[in-house]
Amino acid sequence: MASATPLQTYAIALGSNRRGRHGAPEAEIAAALEAVGGIVAASPTIASAPLGPSNRRYANAVALIETAEDPATLLVRLKAIERAFGRRAGRRWGSRVIDLDIVLWSQGAWSSPGLTIPHAAFRMRSFVLGPLATLIPKWCDPLSGRTIRQLAQMVDRKRPRD
Ligand code: ATP
Ligand code: CA
Ligand code: CA
Repeated sequence: MASATPLQTYAIALGSNRRGRHGAPEAEIAAALEAVGGIVAASPTIASAPLGPSNRRYANAVALIETAEDPATLLVRLKAIERAFGRRAGRRWGSRVIDLDIVLWSQGAWSSPGLTIPHAAFRMRSFVLGPLATLIPKWCDPLSGRTIRQLAQMVDRKRPRD
């Protein structure tokens, strides 16, 4: 009897700050979720402040997906989706129709040229940790050993208040 394909779970972060053929950034996120497929759970899409040199408001969401792909294969497919959505190579953090990052992987850490999991910056990003904490508060960051809930609380406390 053929054995079932082992499914792995990934947390993916989606961001958009530019209209594309699906419409406004929120519509690009919704279309990207469909293109990625294997969605187990998705956060609401939130609006967040621009990062880096672009001054456009972002729409952000995170999703849990199940797939048999290993991390490198998944990243190749995510980059193909970004291109199909009209993303052009440009400045890092510049305006883009869609950005698809791999944040976490059920099997722990991964490091290869061009791919680091957990995503190197996710511990500093409230627009990733906030939505993530609604989906998987008890998941552990394999590097720090902290839960997503703890990381989300830490990033919240660091945020300047007015
Ligand atoms: P940031 O990585 O700070 O969120 P960005 O998403 O705007 O910035 P990109 O230009 O989309 O940066 O990606 C730069 C490179 O990062 C990609 O070509 C990819 O190879 C690499 N990369 C490394 N780790 C990851 C990861 N976990 N998920 C997605 N891309 C990654
Ligand atoms: Ca990114
Ligand atoms: Ca990216």
